[in-house]
Amino acid sequence: RAIFTPGCYLMQPAALVRGLGASLPDNVEVLEESPIQRLEKDAGGNWILQGKEGLIRTPKVLLGTSIFTQEFGYLRNRLLPVMTFASWTRPLSDEEMATVGAQADWGLTPADHAGTTVRMTRDRRLIIRNTYKHVPRYGRSINDATRLKVREDHHAAFLARYPQLAHVPFTHTWGGVYAISRNFTNFFGQLDDGVFATACDNGVGAAWGTISGTLLADKVLGADSQRLDDIETVTGMPSRNPPEPFLGLGVRSRIRWAAWNSRSEL
Ligand SMILES: Cc1cc2nc3c(=O)[nH]c(=O)nc-3n(C[C@H](O)[C@H](O)[C@H](O)COP(=O)(O)OP(=O)(O)OC[C@H]3O[C@@H](n4cnc5c(N)ncnc54)[C@H](O)[C@@H]3O)c2cc1C
Repeated sequence: RAIFTPGCYLMQPAALVRGLGASLPDNVEVLEESPIQRLEKDAGGNWILQGKEGLIRTPKVLLGTSIFTQEFGYLRNRLLPVMTFASWTRPLSDEEMATVGAQADWGLTPADHAGTTVRMTRDRRLIIRNTYKHVPRYGRSINDATRLKVREDHHAAFLARYPQLAHVPFTHTWGGVYAISRNFTNFFGQLDDGVFATACDNGVGAAWGTISGTLLADKVLGADSQRLDDIETVTGMPSRNPPEPFLGLGVRSRIRWAAWNSRSEL
């Protein structure tokens, strides 16, 4: 059973980000492949964002850096870096589509944390998403063997749902890092004098990032709105993490416990 949300649609996040990048107004400049290596204040009270090939000086900084916000020294010991993974098939043929009896362009999101997301893209690829890993070193915590194991688990989840498509291979398996907090609380607001952030999406950052980013800009500009009041009411401070090795042990046990509870949805 599932709840159908009328008017919903499947959004391709890479297309959204590229589309936004390509349609920004003239007063916005995008700098790609240029990580900020240091954030510090100058004598005049401005922030200096130090890159490899230059610096930006500004009175105000808005961070949209998710889990990496902790690398700037903010929300330290409050964010947990977690990775989840997805695999997709090649586009299904007309005959294969007929066997699943489904239309293209839909998504099924699990109600419980550790379940499986199933999607069908507009070009008829089936996507399976599940599995969480605690990744203290971000992407470097994952190796090819882990990715292969994840792909096998995805294939088992795929077969459980579509045994008639056993011959259809996955063409790609990938993962991404995001931030969760122990109390599942999102951060929105001021971190320092002139530094603002929206961070800790708890795994649903597509909608959260879009809404909270817009409202953070409103807040910094001094705008006032009901939606701004609402987001300030529902956000807070992510709770503090225990020190290692208790943190890693606790997160791994919690992930296993959640997977066990959601086993019928894997
Ligand atoms: C397989 C998978 C499926 C998912 N499915 C869903 C879903 O169905 N719905 C949903 O809502 N969410 C989903 N998510 C989660 C979602 O992708 C994330 O929550 C979202 O991408 C977070 O966006 P963000 O812009 O806040 O952070 P990020 O995408 O992590 O962006 C942070 C940015 O900060 C930049 N940055 C970091 N450090 C620096 C630095 N020093 N200098 C300059 N730039 C820096 C990075 O380059 C990056 O561009 C999924 C994630 C994965 C991996």
